[in-house]
Amino acid sequence: MILKISQIINGSEVAFDYVEETMDSFDLPEGIVIKGRAYEEDGHYVVEGSYRTVLKLECVRCLAEITPIIQGEFSGRFLNPKDYAKFIDSLKPEEEFGELHFEEAVANEINISELVREYVILDLSEYESCLPECKDASEVEKYSKEDIDPRWQQLLEIKI
Ligand SMILES: [Zn+2]
Repeated sequence: MILKISQIINGSEVAFDYVEETMDSFDLPEGIVIKGRAYEEDGHYVVEGSYRTVLKLECVRCLAEITPIIQGEFSGRFLNPKDYAKFIDSLKPEEEFGELHFEEAVANEINISELVREYVILDLSEYESCLPECKDASEVEKYSKEDIDPRWQQLLEIKI
């Protein structure tokens, strides 16, 4: 869902409750339920709420198909393009990843579904293997002997 900033200026609050049928790079058999509200506060725009979905994915250990329920809360603070440019200019290099974080409402719009997508990616790591354990242990063993996927290798190096 795309929210226009003009919908929440001058004290107006927008409540939303909708189902997004698809989301980039995720298989969502039932879509994703997204609810929350958006409002203006101290010259910026707050979007907050919760989401719930069933994801279809492969267990990272045994590659079996799993369908965990993923749910959580999300929130984001946005600035209009003009104020966002000022905000970026005002940042000192060491503050770049400080506590005060704003995102840009590109073209004066906030893409709520994209914000939620970022949270799904962050929340996903807890759910990416069979729980409580994999049924087929032979597959697990085979997989663990393989080298680390080169795509992950790069990420691991960044972490160190
Ligand atoms: Zn598994």
